[in-house]
Amino acid sequence: MQKVKNPQKNMSCELSPYPKISLPKSQARSIINIQDRKIGDGYFLSIAGSCAVESEEQIFQTASAIQKSGAQVLRGGAFKPRSSPYDFQGLGEKGLQYLHAAAKNYDLICVSEVMDTSDIQLVAQYVDILQVGSRNMHNFSLLKALGKINKPILLKRGFAATYHEFLLAAEYIAHNGNDQIILCERGIRTFEQETRNCLDLAAVPVIQEKSRLPIIVDPSHGTGKRSLIAPMTKAAIACGADGVMIEVHPTPDAARTDSMQTISTESFHQLMKEINASN
Ligand code: PEP
Ligand code: MN
Repeated sequence: MQKVKNPQKNMSCELSPYPKISLPKSQARSIINIQDRKIGDGYFLSIAGSCAVESEEQIFQTASAIQKSGAQVLRGGAFKPRSSPYDFQGLGEKGLQYLHAAAKNYDLICVSEVMDTSDIQLVAQYVDILQVGSRNMHNFSLLKALGKINKPILLKRGFAATYHEFLLAAEYIAHNGNDQIILCERGIRTFEQETRNCLDLAAVPVIQEKSRLPIIVDPSHGTGKRSLIAPMTKAAIACGADGVMIEVHPTPDAARTDSMQTISTESFHQLMKEINASN
């Protein structure tokens, strides 16, 4: 909270830099309801699936497995923000169709990334939650346009963004009319080379002190390493995350994108069992 002077009344009052998403003392935390699945204020959401939708068979197998393990949301990228233009860019609309069909078939809801303002309507036709990727957290045209739709947004933290910038990005969406926002801590870039990103779990309680919005943790992009997914998922839950998003594939070694950080459907099943047993 910033203390500012109110010149008209010549007294000081408190103005939040994020009036739409802040957590005033009297106000309860947000619960976002997505097709009868809830997240926030004690409701935990598990999102799982492959980095990219690779084929109809692959996403159906993934959906079947994660549903049996107790996840509620199927993820899969159809428009992939790859560092190299020569890497697999995703299946585009075909990928969205496969994702949607797989989610429906297994009574899941689904999330996929939208990279460009001009694709919002297309992506929104097929998914229940639209994801803004880390590289687009500062894309203000995209944030403003997503504020004008009536679907939940999963906003990932920019890999070099402060908490303040992260919350302001969410405020852009809310200020434009859409306050169904789920924040996602996905790791930031530091000097450490051992992990792909530095998963900043302090973001969870810090953001929860400042904002009423739910915040989930993505240990897959946050670490870049299969072996770290289980411990960091448990750590995310321990520090109060409202959900997790984990990359899962029936044959992780063969995954076309982010193979090193993707766990098998069996490992995911085991992890979900452990999580449920300790809660
Ligand atoms: C993703 O979730 O597939 C992704 C590309 O994540 P990020 O934007 O966090 O890198
Ligand atoms: Mn990925």
